[in-house]
Amino acid sequence: MNAHVLDGKAFAAKLRITIADHVAALQAGHGIVPGLAVVLVGEDPASQVYVRSKGKMTVEVGMRSFEHRLPDTTSEADLLALIAQLNADPAVHGILVQLPLPGHLNSDLVINSIDPAKDVDGFHISNVGLLGTGQKAMVPCTPLGCLMLLRDHHGSLAGKHAVVIGRSNIVGKPMAQLLLGDSCTVTIAHSRTADLPAMVRQADIVVAAVGRARMVPGDWIKPGATVIDVGINRIAADDGSTSLVGDVDYDSCAAVAGAITPVPGGVGPMTIACLLANTVTACCRANGLAEPEGLTV
Ligand code: NAP
Repeated sequence: MNAHVLDGKAFAAKLRITIADHVAALQAGHGIVPGLAVVLVGEDPASQVYVRSKGKMTVEVGMRSFEHRLPDTTSEADLLALIAQLNADPAVHGILVQLPLPGHLNSDLVINSIDPAKDVDGFHISNVGLLGTGQKAMVPCTPLGCLMLLRDHHGSLAGKHAVVIGRSNIVGKPMAQLLLGDSCTVTIAHSRTADLPAMVRQADIVVAAVGRARMVPGDWIKPGATVIDVGINRIAADDGSTSLVGDVDYDSCAAVAGAITPVPGGVGPMTIACLLANTVTACCRANGLAEPEGLTV
């Protein structure tokens, strides 16, 4: 079988056009421009790349981008003061604090100081609770992007058995909640799961969010299953060059699966597009306006 490739890059590009249309309508109809503030503490090179690319795409869809780059010596008090200022700023509808934070800063404390209505990453404890109880939340961007790809491909997900490999707060757990919300039967696997291959072989949908290059081989995949690869792993070749690979072994999985996301070009581009979507959603909610269809769950 040759798997259908779920093209996240193309899907995300279409989603950004939809978002830009909503942004233009908000400005034309209500004089409102959605604003996204991104806070980066320290010099982590990968985080700097992400923040730059978030800022660029925010502006491209017509929203305001506010970037706050702070030195890695920033005190918790100063960071909390900046977040309080952004919470109070009516031009800011979404706030994202780039993780990981330097070790002397308490990430939970910092994230939970963001106004939940502006928490476009969906990591605030209130949003975690709202999602877990099936209420209207800000939904974490990466799992939201995965869900959009799955809904687009399958239509209804009801009754499908989904195995999510990974139980992190930013991907695995919210992914499982979203799939449960769409009436999948959900198994969450992790490093202590007994006989992971047998577990994965039962899945109609496999979401791999592990952080281990090519860990899932094709012979774990049920023929025809849908494989969503969240992993982003940089590996070195013998000639010293490097490339990005996912958590699944693409070639062997694509030979068995019904559909699969590539790395790069699958889940990754969906994450930033969903961040922009969440900012529009937050802006509409803050202004008491109807939320655009299809930007969140
Ligand atoms: P994480 O916090 O390190 O969590 C990894 C999870 O994988 C943990 O629950 C861990 O289990 C589990 N695990 C580790 N080894 C395992 C094994 N041998 N068998 C089964 N489970 C195993 O990672 P994360 O933040 O969720 O990220 C996962 C991957 O997604 C990374 O490659 C990351 O770069 C990528 N990612 C991509 C995007 C995107 O936009 N595409 C966004 C976020 C993350 P325990 O809990 O038992 O330790």
